[in-house]
Parts: sequence; C-alpha cells; structure tokens
Amino acid sequence: MRYGETGYNLEIDLSRGNIERAETDPRLTELHLGGLGTNAKILFDRVKPETEPFSPENLLIFSTGLLGGTPAPGANRTIITTYSPQTLLMGYSMMGGFWAPELKYAGYDKVILRGKSSDLVYLWIHNDKVEIRDASHLAGKGAVETQELIRKELKEPNAQVAAIGLAGENKVYTASIEQGRSSASRLGIGAVMGDKGVKAIAVRGTKDVNLARPAEFLELCNEVLKYIKYRNKNPVPNVMTILQGLGSPQEMLHVDEKWHTENFMWGNARTRRKDYWNKEIEEKWKETQLGVRKRLISCYNCPMKCGAIISVPGLSTYMMKCFSKLTYTMAAYSDLDFGFRIAQKATEYGVDGFSTPQIMAFAFELKEAGILTDADFEGCPSDNEGKFYWLLDRIVRREGIGDVLANGTYWAAKEIGKGAEGYAHNNIKKHEQLPLKLGMLNPVYFLMYATGEKANITQIEGQFPQAPFATMEEREEFVKDWIQVPDEKFKQIVLDWEMRGERSNPYYPTVDMSVDIVDWQEMMHYIDDALGVCAGLSSFPLKPPYHIHNYPKLISAATGIDMDEAGLAQVYRRNRNLIRAINVRKGLTRADEKPPEDHWKKRFPELEEKLLDAYYAFKGWDNQGVPTKESLQQLDLGYIAEDFERRGIIKNGQD
Ligand code: SF4
Repeated sequence: MRYGETGYNLEIDLSRGNIERAETDPRLTELHLGGLGTNAKILFDRVKPETEPFSPENLLIFSTGLLGGTPAPGANRTIITTYSPQTLLMGYSMMGGFWAPELKYAGYDKVILRGKSSDLVYLWIHNDKVEIRDASHLAGKGAVETQELIRKELKEPNAQVAAIGLAGENKVYTASIEQGRSSASRLGIGAVMGDKGVKAIAVRGTKDVNLARPAEFLELCNEVLKYIKYRNKNPVPNVMTILQGLGSPQEMLHVDEKWHTENFMWGNARTRRKDYWNKEIEEKWKETQLGVRKRLISCYNCPMKCGAIISVPGLSTYMMKCFSKLTYTMAAYSDLDFGFRIAQKATEYGVDGFSTPQIMAFAFELKEAGILTDADFEGCPSDNEGKFYWLLDRIVRREGIGDVLANGTYWAAKEIGKGAEGYAHNNIKKHEQLPLKLGMLNPVYFLMYATGEKANITQIEGQFPQAPFATMEEREEFVKDWIQVPDEKFKQIVLDWEMRGERSNPYYPTVDMSVDIVDWQEMMHYIDDALGVCAGLSSFPLKPPYHIHNYPKLISAATGIDMDEAGLAQVYRRNRNLIRAINVRKGLTRADEKPPEDHWKKRFPELEEKLLDAYYAFKGWDNQGVPTKESLQQLDLGYIAEDFERRGIIKNGQD
C-alpha cells in the first residue's frame, strides 16, 4: 500500500499512441518526495541535455505533489516540468486550481508526455480509462472555451481540464496552460504542449488517497486551518498591505494601487510615474474593478480566495489573480478597464500575463527608436489600445513581426539586431520579469534573483521581510510570535536591520547572513513544490501556516515516511542540487546568474561577486556554480558526479 501518493504514473507516448500505467519506485519518494523533486529526477534520467525543447524526446511532465489531494489545506498544485524553449534550461511552472487533486483521485501521481502527435489531440483520463482523442475540432479555440467544450463533449461537468489556446498551438514561447481557476504560465510550457500536439488534458477521478495515519494527519491539518484563521484575523502590522496577509498578493481584493502604479515601471519597464495615483483615479479604478469582479474564488481545499471571476460586458468570463490586472494596463500606459478587457483575450489565447505585455511594450519602444519600422507595423491602428490588441494578435498567430516577438524579448532582440538588445533589459536567464525597479541593492534579493532556478522574481520571495522595520518597537513586535524561523538567529538579524547607516542594505544583512536567509527561503519553496502545497500558504508570505517545524509531521502522518527537520532539509538540498545539475548540463554558467541590469539603481559589483562566491561555497558548489563531487555524493547524487565527469564538467579529483 502506498500512502499520500498513488504509486503510479501515466506514461503517454504521443508518437505511437501508447498509454501505460507505470508503477513508481517508493525509494524515489523518500529521496525526492514528489512533484518537482521526482519530476527533476525523471528529467535528469531520461532526457539528454542535448535534447531540444521541441524535440519528441523532450518530456512534458504534469505532476501532483506528495500531499496533493490529501486534506492538507492548499495542497492543490500541478507542477509542470520540461525543457523551456525560452531559457533552454529546465522550465517548471505551477498552477493551483483543481487539476492535480483530480489526477490523484483518478489514480496517478504524474502524467508524462513524450513524443509528438501528428494531429491535434486531447487526453481523457477517467480513473482507469485513458484515451487519446481527436481535437481537430478544437484547433484555434480559446484555452477557457476549450475546457467548457470538452466538458460538454464528455458529458462530464466535473472534469478538470488543462488546455492551451492558440498561442500554445503556435508554439509562442510565452504560451501558458490554462485551467479553470489557475494557469501555469511561465517559461513556455504551453509551447511545448502545443509542440506535442496536445490541446488539453481532461481528468476525472473518484478514487481515494490513502493516508498512513489519518487521525493524526487530520489533527495536523486542523492546526493549519486554525492558524490560517488566526492570521486572517491578525494581519502582520507595519508592512505593505499586500504583505500583511496569506495567499498570493490579494490584487483582486485590494483596490488601492498607489504603490504598484508609482513604483513598478510602465511601458517597457523604464518609466516611473511618481505622482500617478490620485483621488480621481482611485475612484475610477475602484469602480472598474468592483464592476467586473463577479466574486472571489479559491483553489481546491483552501480557505483563502486569491482569484476572482471577471466578467466584462460583451466578453466571456475568465479568472484573474495576482498582478495580471496591472501588467497590460501599465505596459500600454492605459486604464484599468483596458487591462481587464485585453486580459480576457490574452487568457483565451493562453499567454503569460507577465511576459506578454512586456514584449509588446518592448516592440513599441523599438518602433519609437526607429529599430523597428512602419513596415513592421503595417495595418497597426494608431490608437494606443488598438495597437496592443493588434500586436497581441500578430504574436499569438506568429504573423509578420509577431513571429519574431513570439520568442520573447531576448531572442527577438537578437534576431532584430540594430541595438535592440539594449531594450531587452528586464530579463533573468532570457525570461521577462515584472517591471519592478528599486533604489538600493538588497543582497538577499540579489542572490534569489540571480541564482533561482525558477527564473522568476515573484516566485522566489519568501518569509523573511523585504525591508527593515523603521523602529525597534516594530521589529520586536514582528519577531515575538515568529514561530516559522528555522533558527533563532534570523530574529536577531531583523532586530539589528536598519533603514540607514552601517546596518542597512547593501552591506547588511552581511554576506553570510544573506546566504543563510536565501537558503531558508529556497528550502521552503523546494519543499512546497515537491509536496504540491501552494506557496501562498507556505514559502511566499510572512508568517505562514506551513513551515519547517510542522511539515515533517505532516509528511510522516500522510506517507508513513520517517521524517524529521534534518531529513527534510536534506531532501531539499538533494532536489536543489539535482535541478542545478540539470541546468549545469544544459549550459548554465555563473555569467547567467544576474538580475535585470537596472533592477536596482545602486549596484555594487564587488559585493555582488562576494555574495555569489559565498552562496556557491555554502551550497557545496565550485566558483562557477557547479556542485562538487563531494557535495553530490553526500546527497546520494553520486551518479550525477559520474555524469559530470563523463562530460568533462568536473575533472577527476576535483574535490
Ligand atoms: S492561497 Fe490562494 S492561490 Fe493558494 S491555494 Fe489558496 S486560494 Fe489558491
């Protein structure tokens, strides 16, 4: 009997039309948990680093997490892993919603796609019955529309459907996978799904998930729920509104956008509008948001409500959460109303709401600079909003200049040349980021942005405050009930951290402290992503209900695996090194590890090098960020050291 997980993966060879229910190795669960951890193991073992993202040999893995579908609140993430066409590294993107729990109830931990279908198909997984079905009638349909059409066709209103839109079919590098109340948007995973000829995966499951010690597990889940209630009643004081609560940033709830509109950059991540927000705009935006927001919604088994059903008159409804409400608006220097309207179209097309507006603003900036010409924009309307709709269509259809832009700003700039590269300035590892620009370098954030394998600013943030508290009273107030810290030393750092002077950014937290803090933040993200628990209840917000002290108990009670804090930290280190190894084999080097050039106005090159040196040394990596033989062996990853030696990445006796 397997507990927590089902013990089976679905292996689907799209080239041959072959479907197999494959039993998995429980030892791998002990070593990597599940979700991201076992996805990475499969990718390392089965996909050669030379494999192109759009090769039939590339895998596209949809995974539940180890706790996915159990009563653990917020254990609903689908972790999707492949080689990214945009970064050419391992890409992993996650979605909430309901899909992963449904897959587990159908009896599977993962769906592993390989090969390519010559015709457009969709998969129908209904417990033990699994079919590859014709999807030619769904070609060109919207990602949200497709979900409904499939449910109707199958006469299964409760099926959970993950689908791509036209962008995925056309292999746009920023194509997303959309699913009811969530989407996996980053790093071009929707393009890989389109390349494989898969329009959608529909799932319906009615089986049980076994738990090793159910009564104990439920008791622990109740404690988590109790703490969520407590936190909802007691927002963290003295921090920005969006940092006070749990969940993903509550952008569908809050209407005050003074901070974002005045501190995030507009257009192609260059222009700050310092006095933008005023009473009139506040009233107008509030009316717009409350007018289109039908209701706030949750993911599976979660008491939070981070998303909203949006209904704009004349357009079909869609789901929105997080910063998408602002990204299109600010890229086009437009109004919130425009943001909600174009986001509906973009969601149906299935594109990443963070990257795509940046790509469009980048294109218009190139036109203003004379690098792109009128000929590139033939037929483009002259009004501001019309321009964005026009270009979105061209990108998604890969028509004209849209075909170049569909590969993202990094690759488009290379192809366009004539100085365009200088305008693709907001990337980490070839991938567009939110246009946040700040003054003074923050050493902790420098390290997280530079080295994070998620290649995404917003998903690496963590439980340590983003900025110092102004007064000692505020600091003491913050640390007094900070039960989540893995070590008391973190409280002292917060107590000593000043806004100005010797103990302020960029030299405080010190290099060693910064490395410690980043290690803690990463640990929680890696554990969440292996367990399938939403970061919004764990690694992302301040003082979350899940932390390093209660996770081992939850894992043990759910799975029967003997787990303590030290053991869980070791699993995290193993998964961290495994993913680093995949990316090192894909060509990742120290030179790639940098945040967007103008993310901070004040930069400190010498300090930044010291931070990287110390971080690598702490991880047991050499000064190029390559895990050493010794550190790999200590993590039961000796086979990676051997692979590195065979490839000449490390030399015999390196250590
Ligand atoms: S915290 Fe928000 S995003 Fe996370 S599972 Fe709950 S509702 Fe979904």
